[in-house]
Amino acid sequence: MKHSILILGGTAEARQLAGQMAGDRRYAVELSLAGRTRSPVEQPVPVRIGGFGGAEGLADYLRRRDVKLLIDATHPYAARMSHNAVEAARLAEVPMIALRREPWQRQEGDLWHDVGSVPQAVSALGDRPRRVFLTLGRQELLPFEAAPQHHYLIRSVDPIEPALDLPQARYLTDRGPFVEADERSLLQGNEIEVIVAKNSGGPASYGKIAAARALGIEVVLIQRPELPEVASVDSVEEVLSRIDHILPPL
Ligand code: NAP
Repeated sequence: MKHSILILGGTAEARQLAGQMAGDRRYAVELSLAGRTRSPVEQPVPVRIGGFGGAEGLADYLRRRDVKLLIDATHPYAARMSHNAVEAARLAEVPMIALRREPWQRQEGDLWHDVGSVPQAVSALGDRPRRVFLTLGRQELLPFEAAPQHHYLIRSVDPIEPALDLPQARYLTDRGPFVEADERSLLQGNEIEVIVAKNSGGPASYGKIAAARALGIEVVLIQRPELPEVASVDSVEEVLSRIDHILPPL
């Protein structure tokens, strides 16, 4: 008999957490991915892929699998999934905990321009043509078609297909982590004047933020969406220490 645990993932932390729990004979852990990337990195526990069909679909899943603990370790911008998780845990009466990465904090020398949404980021670039580095998901790129005057360098995990309707866009596929020295070369080599990014937090994508600070490059930073109030911690270790208090001994 094991405790069945579902981790909502898509982040490095979710993978690390699953890895730490994989060898523990008290737990049967499953990791859930949205299926946003074509070839997700290998995971240390069984994986299921794709949406559940809203909060009710997830609640059904939790009941059917007799899940004893739901862990929301999704990306901080995956707000819909986080809201669904809270509602599903309530409906299925399953305890839940969230693993939430702290946002990056502004440091001296950062030239950050905070905006509330992708369309606001597009406006913040202004009318004058600029050389822009975009590190956003595919759905978030479409609004930039409204600003074809800029020269874009777009980095994504999977190729952007079909390409955007932009006359001056170049594409780069790569998967993090990205270190500062490489990001610095990329920014300099492409004469980037401004970066548009999410405040993802964590070290894996911070290299471009540090490089921008060193080079005096502006960063248009899309602020985080509002997430539901729920018991949350900000490290894998804290999740592990909480689990023993939440789940009864076997
Ligand atoms: P979202 O808007 O919160 O989720 C949309 C729907 O996708 C959810 O309602 C759910 O479908 C499904 N979903 C999301 N995460 C899931 C998971 N772990 N397991 C199973 N289904 C999941 O999130 P998003 O559309 O994926 O992304 C929003 C933002 O987060 C974007 O900025 C994106 O770049 C960023 N982001 C997301 C991920 C990720 O793994 N999702 C990773 C990195 C960055 P149902 O309602 O049908 O259950």
